[in-house]
Amino acid sequence: MDFINYGKQTVQKDDIDSVVEVLQSDFLTTGPKVVEFEKAICDYVGVSYCVAVSNGTAALHLASLALLKEKDKVLTTPNSFLATSNSIIYANAKPIFVDIKEDGNIDLELCEKFLKEDSSIEVLYAVHFSGNPIEQEKLAYLKERYNIKILEDCAHSLGASYNDIKAGSCKNSDISIFSFHPVKNITTGEGGAITTNSKEIYKKLLFLRNHGMIKDSSMKPWEYEMRDLGFNYRLTDIQCALGLSQLKKLDKFLKKRKAIAQKYDEAFKTCEIIKPIYPFFEGSAYHLYVVRVDFKKVNLSKEELFYKMRESGIGLQLHYIPINKQPFYKNLGYGKEITPIMDRYYEEVISLPIFPSLDEERQNYVIKSLKGFLNA
Ligand SMILES: *Cc1c(COP(=O)(O)O)cnc(C)c1O
Repeated sequence: MDFINYGKQTVQKDDIDSVVEVLQSDFLTTGPKVVEFEKAICDYVGVSYCVAVSNGTAALHLASLALLKEKDKVLTTPNSFLATSNSIIYANAKPIFVDIKEDGNIDLELCEKFLKEDSSIEVLYAVHFSGNPIEQEKLAYLKERYNIKILEDCAHSLGASYNDIKAGSCKNSDISIFSFHPVKNITTGEGGAITTNSKEIYKKLLFLRNHGMIKDSSMKPWEYEMRDLGFNYRLTDIQCALGLSQLKKLDKFLKKRKAIAQKYDEAFKTCEIIKPIYPFFEGSAYHLYVVRVDFKKVNLSKEELFYKMRESGIGLQLHYIPINKQPFYKNLGYGKEITPIMDRYYEEVISLPIFPSLDEERQNYVIKSLKGFLNA
């Protein structure tokens, strides 16, 4: 059996064919596939505008420049990939780390407490952790009641929905971002996208993506004008062709992910020691499958479990090391926030392999190995 990692892309012949087609066409970048991919994302999530960019971090960077002013205070979660809060710092704003709930998502009740106590906080960055969507009515309430701006980090949650509101539709937020890194729900190799319903934000993103430069039909053919300091964060037509092909199969991929999640749920149902972080939820995109292990009840440390599983050919992961405890953040004065749920969560959780091509035999092998080592 090949080594089973916690996540893996599914690239099939039709994906490869669509890439080859672009390689033989006139446009390798800034051609028709980019616009087509952006339109397909708009249609899928139900949003007005989409800007495809070179990766999820670039998406967060541009979204933060479009949304934030210098010194803005931004509520965010310690339980995410580094890029979420790094992007706040790229924009010279200030992340405030808020504790999470048992399901790994940011605690919006605590966010409200922060908003009540400090009226200068104007922004919330929410991550739909593992693909499990944050309650949209709570985002709507906070936005309305406290007049805040909201960014949804949907890097895990392409395809997730909550009461028929798709993650990334920006129904109760200003801006959303996606990542198409190979471990995410669809891939373009590297890639990302930003969605919004604001025409103003959309225009700003387009021009930040391309050097802060304007070139339009009113200008002479050779003219271009730089109005702001932008970047080259473009995504190629080659990558967008792959993304288009992948997006067509997203619902199939999600079905597989959910079936695996249900299988794991069932396997740990009567188990004292291993518990999924939330009960099965149809709206989750199951980018990750995270369990808590009660290490106090077993004669095995987390470290030992990781190594033993690795020797058995299974790659576990840990999502996430609290961002505020990273050396860079500690140097900025972070790390002493009171986050008891996150602290315990971090001690207990592991991510099990979940990806569309993980077959039954290997699902069973993961379950058997994990239960075996934990004597569960
Ligand atoms: C993957 C990820 C990102 C960054 O995306 P890249 O495409 O790897 O730059 C941002 N936020 C979260 C929550 C992620 O999981």
